[in-house]
Amino acid sequence: MKIAADRETCIGAGMCVLTAPAVFDQDDDGIVELLVEDVPPGDADAARQAVALCPSGALRALDD
Ligand code: SF4
Repeated sequence: MKIAADRETCIGAGMCVLTAPAVFDQDDDGIVELLVEDVPPGDADAARQAVALCPSGALRALDD
C-alpha cells in the first residue's frame, strides 16, 4: 500500500503524525511529510486510520 499526501491541502493539524508516526512527519511549518511511500504491512492499519482522520482530506491511500 502506498500513501499520497497533498502538502498544498494539509492544514498542519498533526493527526496523521499522532496516528501513524512511522509513516508521517511534519516539517517546521507543520505541513505533512511522508517518511515512507510504501507503507510496511505492520503500519498499514494505522496509515489508513490517519487517512480517515485527516481533517483536510490531504491524505490518500493507494492500494496496490
Ligand atoms: S492530519 Fe492531514 S491536515 Fe493534519 S498534518 Fe496530517 S495531512 Fe496535514
